[in-house]
Amino acid sequence: MNVYDSARMADLLASQGYAETRRQEDADLVILNTCHIREKAADKVYSELGKLAAMKHARSAAGRDMQIVVAGCVAQAEGVEALRRQRAVDLVVGPQSYHRLPELLARTARGERLTDTEFAVEDKFQFLPQPTPQQIRARGVSAFVTVQEGCDKFCSFCVVPYTRGAEVSRQVAQVVAETEGLAAAGVREITVIGQNVNAYRGEAPDGRKWPLERLLERLSHIGGVERLRYTTSHPIDMSQGLIDAHGALPQLMPFVHLPAQSGSDRVLKAMNRRHGASAYLDRVARLRKARPDIALSSDFIVGFPGETDADFEATLSLIREVGFAAAFSFKYSPRPGTPGAERSDQIDEQAKRERLRALQELIEAQRQAFNAAAIGRAFDVLFEKAGRHPGQIAGKSPYMQAVHVTGDVELIGAVAKVTIVAAGANSLAGRLAGGAAKERRH
Ligand code: SAH
Ligand code: SF4
Repeated sequence: MNVYDSARMADLLASQGYAETRRQEDADLVILNTCHIREKAADKVYSELGKLAAMKHARSAAGRDMQIVVAGCVAQAEGVEALRRQRAVDLVVGPQSYHRLPELLARTARGERLTDTEFAVEDKFQFLPQPTPQQIRARGVSAFVTVQEGCDKFCSFCVVPYTRGAEVSRQVAQVVAETEGLAAAGVREITVIGQNVNAYRGEAPDGRKWPLERLLERLSHIGGVERLRYTTSHPIDMSQGLIDAHGALPQLMPFVHLPAQSGSDRVLKAMNRRHGASAYLDRVARLRKARPDIALSSDFIVGFPGETDADFEATLSLIREVGFAAAFSFKYSPRPGTPGAERSDQIDEQAKRERLRALQELIEAQRQAFNAAAIGRAFDVLFEKAGRHPGQIAGKSPYMQAVHVTGDVELIGAVAKVTIVAAGANSLAGRLAGGAAKERRH
């Protein structure tokens, strides 16, 4: 979501005459769009701000200004504290206020230092300009569209409900218009995103609230949209309707990111996840019934307060039972203001480290096995960019695997059949089947 928000900020500022630069030293304005999900992220922001402060002073000695903005969830959580802790910061702007950047920057240009961390009453999306076809093309053939923000679930480890606010869904017409603009400019894959994307309940032109599967079905009719994905889903919102869509919508890719966090019922309860391990396994079984080749990825937290060796074993056993194509995993990080952080039974760092290593070893073995199983199979690949070596192009399989082949850059933006010939550590090597490639182009 931060990638999406950063792009929206860049679009908004482009309309104010700003252009993006890759080198921080050259910038009149630097925005750090930040994440607050784990502690390290906030520490990184302050260390990055220290470096920027030095750059700002060097520029100011040369008679040039550099404005420094902290955006995103660290901005939301820290507020004026960020202004206090780092004198070089000009503006702190939260994730629900960044549409006001032009007016806020006009004030910082006059020497004010300020924060805006309101949860705007107005809908920020109404104030964000549509990107131009050039801006869209520069970002490639796969794009994110935010359809839902915020969270009402209050898992006991998580800051999201505090930094992103309550669950809000964008209207169907807005999402359709944004997607049409992207597709018309050449985007072929849309990933609809939300903190709880499958809790989507967007107001539709028929006056009803549509669930995610209806939105996806509507988007599948937009010319040029070859592939649809969605992320991130909560297991309790994985409705049968959405599961069935995986069997019914050819554009909906057979890959679902479904965070489990833990395989222990006791820990899941303490996390306030509102489901146990068997409910998670039941969602997986139903997804596989609807779409037998579906691949799954997940998020896991190790070392939540009170987690015993037996609880951790239950997580490994859930992982073994499901068999994931990939997963993200984290050591529990206590977040101030969340119930988990208040608990007296915190797990020591060494146990967390050992559990994380064991879990990642298992996931890595599953990922390698999943990739190795692709050898000899033929997949549709959406080509996204030139490959690392001359004459190579790179894209993604339906299961989110990176695939590279020898082929013409003309194929970028096209879906073509590829036979997988080898599996490396992080990508698959394939051979174009020929012929089929051009037919599917739009
Ligand atoms: N809404 C999604 C998750 C969003 S946060 C869901 O409910 O699944 C992304 C991931 O960060 C989470 O799935 C979790 O695994 C991890 N995470 C969140 N808070 C964390 C914390 N305090 N410590 C460690 N990992 C955390
Ligand atoms: Fe955080 Fe996800 Fe739980 Fe919401 S559902 S509180 S975003 S982990």
